[in-house]
Amino acid sequence: MYFIDVILPIPLKQSFTYSVNVHEARFLKPGMRVAVPFGKSKVYTGIVFQVHTEAPIGYETKSIDQILDEEPIVNSLQLEHWQWMASYYMCTLGEVVRAGLPSAFLLESETIIKLSATATADEASFTDEEFLVYEALQHQSSLHINDVRSILDKRNVVKVIQQLLLKGIVEVEEAVVEKYTPRLVRYVRLAREFSSEANLQELLDSLSRAPKQKEVLMTLFMLNAGEKKPVSSVLLQKKSNSNAATLKTLIDKGILEEYYIHRDRVNYAGPEGSETKQLNEAQEKALSEIKESFTQQDVTLLHGVTSSGKTEIYVDLISDMLKMGKQVLYMLPEIALTTQLISRLQEYFGESISVYHSKYTLNERVEVWHNVLRNKPKAQIIIGARSSLFLPFSKLGLIIVDEAHETSFKQFSPAPRYHARDAAVVLGNLHGAKTLLGSATPSLESYFNAKAGKYGLVQLTQRYGNVLMPDIELVDIKEKHRKKQMNGHFSDRLLEEMKEVLESGDQVILFQNRRGFSPFVECTTCGTAPQCPNCDVSLTYHQYKNELRCHYCGYHMAMLISCMACGSETLDTKGFGTEQIETEVRSLFPNHEVGRMDQDTTRRKHAHSKLIDAIENREIDIIVGTQMLAKGLDFRNIGLVGVMNADNLLNFPDFRAHERSFQLLQQVAGRAGRTEKRGKVLIQTYNPYHTILQQLSVNDYEGMYKDEAEQRYQYKYPPYYRTIKITLRDRNYNKMQKSAVWFAALLQTKLKEHVLGPEAPPVGRIRNLFITNLLVKIPRQQSVAKTKIFIEKAVRSFNSVKEFSTVKLSIDVDNY
Ligand code: ADP
Ligand code: ZN
Ligand code: ZN
Repeated sequence: MYFIDVILPIPLKQSFTYSVNVHEARFLKPGMRVAVPFGKSKVYTGIVFQVHTEAPIGYETKSIDQILDEEPIVNSLQLEHWQWMASYYMCTLGEVVRAGLPSAFLLESETIIKLSATATADEASFTDEEFLVYEALQHQSSLHINDVRSILDKRNVVKVIQQLLLKGIVEVEEAVVEKYTPRLVRYVRLAREFSSEANLQELLDSLSRAPKQKEVLMTLFMLNAGEKKPVSSVLLQKKSNSNAATLKTLIDKGILEEYYIHRDRVNYAGPEGSETKQLNEAQEKALSEIKESFTQQDVTLLHGVTSSGKTEIYVDLISDMLKMGKQVLYMLPEIALTTQLISRLQEYFGESISVYHSKYTLNERVEVWHNVLRNKPKAQIIIGARSSLFLPFSKLGLIIVDEAHETSFKQFSPAPRYHARDAAVVLGNLHGAKTLLGSATPSLESYFNAKAGKYGLVQLTQRYGNVLMPDIELVDIKEKHRKKQMNGHFSDRLLEEMKEVLESGDQVILFQNRRGFSPFVECTTCGTAPQCPNCDVSLTYHQYKNELRCHYCGYHMAMLISCMACGSETLDTKGFGTEQIETEVRSLFPNHEVGRMDQDTTRRKHAHSKLIDAIENREIDIIVGTQMLAKGLDFRNIGLVGVMNADNLLNFPDFRAHERSFQLLQQVAGRAGRTEKRGKVLIQTYNPYHTILQQLSVNDYEGMYKDEAEQRYQYKYPPYYRTIKITLRDRNYNKMQKSAVWFAALLQTKLKEHVLGPEAPPVGRIRNLFITNLLVKIPRQQSVAKTKIFIEKAVRSFNSVKEFSTVKLSIDVDNY
């Protein structure tokens, strides 16, 4: 008898064992996929974990439905990494598999398929079964696995669907709400019919009276070097000194054709490897220190101020790795950042770059997965957000975690609730690779590790080109209000500086950490503020649509005319968001172009990159935005950054609030003056003597670190203590509360005073579920592993209490 243990992509504590015959046992290897029956009628795709001969105790094994791969698609290093992840983050291997694999790899009963939008069906190449499914999809837009079963009149249909997927005939329907659409770049080429010498000559003759158009064509020939290189319309326009109208005429005449390519999928054909920048002295020094540090240490923290040229240092390290035939993983906190970075890296590394993140279409993700698995030339450098950690690397030499302090590296929900920075360090170790954490404002945890000698530490304190750090001025708006020197939310100082910068032709960024018009609306007669019916928060007023919105669940309603409680028409908006700032700034500066960058303005296709382009091309003078603006964007002409109100950041109820405010404000400030001119930053606050703001104004990271570390030590928080957050949620408040008290008491039997709570979070109810938290603190000398085992045991006891069966319990290790 032969058996295989299969990891199913569901929250099962253990892998599940199936029986296989001797041929299957010989063929199957760990990391291959199999379709297996589960429960009464379900089918799942699982990953083979091991092949063995020991029958499981306690249940009859079923046999598998089908083998789906010829070769493993998951390698042993991945399985090892995923096991670590499951155990460290206290979740199941199945949950890790579900997070790690593109869902097109995991066909199951719930999967819905539809005809692919780009399908070009070669019906002759279909098997009979494939044809039947294809035909059925001509008549109905989507099919469930069970439908396919009845169409084909058999149980095992996963393989047929998989073949159709591979051939690009069908797609898996995704429940993704917001799909990322990579930016399209417009290219032009000569129309086919002119490709012959004779026709071309004729064409050129016919253009003798249109010298401009002729010039464009000649430039095109020069640039595309015998049709080998794609030529973007922007480049062509620039090189031929022409304008959009000339290009359009040529296209309208049918002489040129336009076509589009995803910017990050372009087969780059420009000069390669030739342009790496000469590092300056400080960068050279940092580079050699990093290399030196890597001889001793697997992880190094590069603490380099904003605009110090960290990216150029990464470039050097990457090219060393490529020369050694190793793969490089370059992780960024957000896809939004990739556009600028990709074009920068493409100049150096051309075609060796692939981009991977969870918002790509399934087909694109599958393609990158296969390229990495086969170690293709295209997949030597992977740029990606946190999910790129799961790719089937086999020869990683270097992992770069850029903007390593960013909290979006932490996955909140669902499990695995992992921190990609920490998971990267472990991945690096498994590969014997080096990990470089880069940041202008390292997290306290990373800096602590570096100071303790656990990581190497390299500092870069100057901006590239000796550009000065921006000059930061704190403006006391309490005082300004008292002296009546405020115009709306703008102090006289901010207005003065804005005018000056705009007059000199530079751009201004205005930062406000809230979107919408105003965070809440209040009745001035009775004090009632409209609340979300599903969550315990006030609704945010959005002026543009004249509606009230919940930022937690998306609930929205038309703006009220009168108070729901007392009927008075005395509703007043309180607080302010980006939308209100935009409105004010438009009336204050009617002669300048204003743009807004927040979740509301960047939802539409390409909106985000269009906005970035518009800023780069100086079509926008004043940009109002949320922290989306803070992240790593490299704009050249920002003369002034205005922070509308620093206080709501500082007052956030979280032990990391001060650290985060410092990081965020320093990042926003870092957008100012990245070229010769010194940038200016104005921070409006009710509390200019706040230590964090004082430290920020003199760029004193070290001081901030010292103070905060002291606080963390005093109050027993990371990096001195580890934390595990346990969240309990239920529709019924009393049940939730009772279960939390019960569970806390159970944990306290052993963990004593290191169990805090239950405590309701700032928003105590979301989507009709009441929420409460427990926090377990683990002192340095206490075993983390043992503590986790104890908590797991407690969770099992909890799960056996009938009364609490509806309560959702989730565990977040190293919570953020
Ligand atoms: P950081 O990532 O540290 O914020 P960047 O790598 O974006 O800084 O560098 C800031 C700017 O300085 C970029 O526009 C970059 O092109 C330029 N720069 C950095 N190093 C060099 C160099 N050695 N030669 C020329 N330009 C450089
Ligand atoms: Zn809500
Ligand atoms: Zn009222």
